Amino acid sequence: MTAPLVLVVEDEPAQRDLLTYNLEADGFRVAGAASGDEALMLVDEERPDLILLDWMLPGVSGIEICRRLKSRPETRGVPIVMLSARSEEVDRVRGLETGADDYVVKPYSVIELMARVRGQMRRLRPASQGEVLTFEDITLDSETHRVSRAGKPVKLGPTEFRLLATFMEKPGRVWSREQLLDRVWGRDIYVDTRTVDVHVGRLRKALCIHGGPDPVRTVRGSGYALG
Ligand code: CA
Repeated sequence: MTAPLVLVVEDEPAQRDLLTYNLEADGFRVAGAASGDEALMLVDEERPDLILLDWMLPGVSGIEICRRLKSRPETRGVPIVMLSARSEEVDRVRGLETGADDYVVKPYSVIELMARVRGQMRRLRPASQGEVLTFEDITLDSETHRVSRAGKPVKLGPTEFRLLATFMEKPGRVWSREQLLDRVWGRDIYVDTRTVDVHVGRLRKALCIHGGPDPVRTVRGSGYALG
């Protein structure tokens, strides 16, 4: 199972590094943004599972980003923890009803902040340990690595299993070949994007072995999606 992705939006490099270090030490994957515009772009590209969002940013403010993300149906569900320099700001965030899910006042204790992050993640994934994902008639158990379709077991190789797990985390989401390479093979390994096509082909074959329609959709010019 791939680790949840946290987007850290913070313009001060030292703060961003500190957060990145602690989040990675806690098993999260981290993407960093130094400005509001960069953050909005990364949200669309990477679909983070949680966002740590600084209030004071150059360009688009943290408050404005929060408001925009919470007004869009495709990003509304992503928890946002606002970081602000003063408690009066936190009061204002609350008063403004930006939809932020939690607030932490700077200077924060990293331990407390990490507890808040984990709290939001628990809310998001109530059973992240031994999670069973389902999509239509497909079931994937991330703990036992068992996959079944319409009650019949489906045998998958480790790469096909990780591909399917990635697809099932966010059904309907279109993944580019590059994004799948990052998630399934890892950033540091050189693999040709055609390899992705080969493994998606194997996954399709395995899922359809007992009959039933092909659940993986090819999105011309973009990549692949489940359903
Ligand atoms: Ca700042």
